Amino acid sequence: MARRSERYLSGVGMMANYIPSRQMLKSDAGYGPPQDPSDGLCKACDYFVGPNKCEKVMGDIAPYMTCDLWEPQGGPGSNEEMGY
Ligand code: SF4
Repeated sequence: MARRSERYLSGVGMMANYIPSRQMLKSDAGYGPPQDPSDGLCKACDYFVGPNKCEKVMGDIAPYMTCDLWEPQGGPGSNEEMGY
């Protein structure tokens, strides 16, 4: 059986590897094909990370899909607006 200090250090190591995800499931974000011509596409969204990722939604993202979190590039909270 591991000594108390060894168990503690083991726990610290596990926490160091823990990276909380701030991304949502596609189903929770309403990800899918646009339902209206005015829906913004992923490729024009501030959260899109080409060629197929998103800062907010997990998994592979297609440029011609959309979701409820869509923000125009350069919109509120964007890196561009923040001066980064
Ligand atoms: S619309 Fe934006 S937030 Fe939603 S999945 Fe596409 S890139 Fe991500």
